[in-house]
Amino acid sequence: MEIFFAVLFFLLDNMYIVPYTYGMSKIKVATEQQAFMDELVSLWPLAKGSLALVRKPCIRPNCPACRSGKKHPALMFSFTQAGKRRCRYVPAELGPVLRKALSNGRRLEQRLAELGAELLERYRRQRG
Ligand SMILES: [Zn+2]
Repeated sequence: MEIFFAVLFFLLDNMYIVPYTYGMSKIKVATEQQAFMDELVSLWPLAKGSLALVRKPCIRPNCPACRSGKKHPALMFSFTQAGKRRCRYVPAELGPVLRKALSNGRRLEQRLAELGAELLERYRRQRG
């Protein structure tokens, strides 16, 4: 996540610096920023982490499923927060939304990597 924000801030900073430094028009950058913002909105909801199907015990006394060791299927969301690995149970009805958010999150990270590469390529082209 730290790298993710480092890349994002690098990109956002450089979008302002690039036009003045390398002669790119301000209008073109604004258009590219708007296109990125539109793409970002289309990627909502967003999340980073992983989702796993686990089996958890319940609190009912003498539950047959728990006594047999089968327990109950549940979704577990794992993520990193302030450098620490965290886990949370996910209500079943939220599963599809979270899956979509994680897929969107992977897509966004991929886009950021592409944007970093594009930034370098543009710099090299303009330098000749
Ligand atoms: Zn149980």
